[in-house]
This record gives sequence, C-alpha cells and structure tokens, in this order.
Amino acid sequence: MVIETWNEKETFALGKKLGEQAKPGDVYTLIGDLGVGKTVFTQGVAEGLGIQEPINSPTFTIVQVYEEGRIPFYHFDVYRIGDVEEMDEIGYEDYFYGDGICFIEWANLIEEIIPQNRVQITIEKNLEKGFDYRRITIDNENTCN
Ligand code: ADP
Ligand code: MG
Repeated sequence: MVIETWNEKETFALGKKLGEQAKPGDVYTLIGDLGVGKTVFTQGVAEGLGIQEPINSPTFTIVQVYEEGRIPFYHFDVYRIGDVEEMDEIGYEDYFYGDGICFIEWANLIEEIIPQNRVQITIEKNLEKGFDYRRITIDNENTCN
C-alpha cells in the first residue's frame, strides 16, 4: 500500500489511524533517512493508541516505554546502536514478542533480529514533488521461509 502525504499533519494522521487499528503483538519497522518523518508518524501512532505524554526520539535509551494507552507502546530508535548485542542487553525479546506494539525506527540496522512477521513502513522524499512531499509504503512482510 502506498500513501502520499503533502505535509506533516497528513503523516501524523496516517500514523494515528494505524495506532487506532494496531493489535497487541504487532511489530512495525520504520525505514527512511534522517528527517523524513519517522518520528512524526510514530507520534501519530501514539495518539491513536490514546497516549497523551509527548513522544520524542529516544536519544539516550534505545527504547521508550509508554503504558498509558490502549495497549503498551514500545518505541525504539536504534540509530545510535553500535552492535546488535546492545539489544540483548535491554532484553528486546520481551518487547518484540510481548503484548504491546513495537515501533522500530532505523530497523534496518538490526535486521537480523527483527521478527519475520512484521509490517514494514518506508518513508521517502521526492524533491521534485515539493519539500514536504512524502511517499509512505506500508508492506506486510509476512514471509514464510
Ligand atoms: P525522522 O524521525 O525520520 O528523523 P522527524 O519525524 O523527526 O524525522 O522529522 C521530520 C521533519 O520533516 C519534521 O520537521 C516535519 O515537520 C517535516 N515534514 C515536512 N513534511 C512532512 C511530511 N509530509 N510528513 C512528515 N514530516 C514532514
Ligand atoms: Mg526520529
């Protein structure tokens, strides 16, 4: 599924819709360059889950946990991760295979531990269509191998 957005509000609204529909155990990966809108999208998801506290990119911690919404929300930003072993140290399996929903920014950096059953969201710019244009691809990569 491909959705085009033309401003930050539309990306937020798309995330919100997804947050309203998300189910316990869902894992979403977010791929895209710095400043493309991964956190904006994630903030929409949080609102859709009924989370009121502000969502920022977790700068000093790999994961930020929000328990106040409809289901627990685990927001990962692994941009600064040095080694996948850092994920072991935080006990990532409890999150990835738990009853909350996971959002993982920069998931491509830890591809080897991402569950097969996840939804991949890719956000891309296209400057020919304007500075605020984003192309958002949502892929259910439920591969069996
Ligand atoms: P990332 O988390 O991918 O590094 P952020 O979500 O922190 O990026 O920042 C995205 C920036 O792009 C924000 O400053 C936002 O206002 C801007 N922006 C402009 N157009 C859009 C759009 N269509 N969707 C999302 N963000 C947009
Ligand atoms: Mg971010």
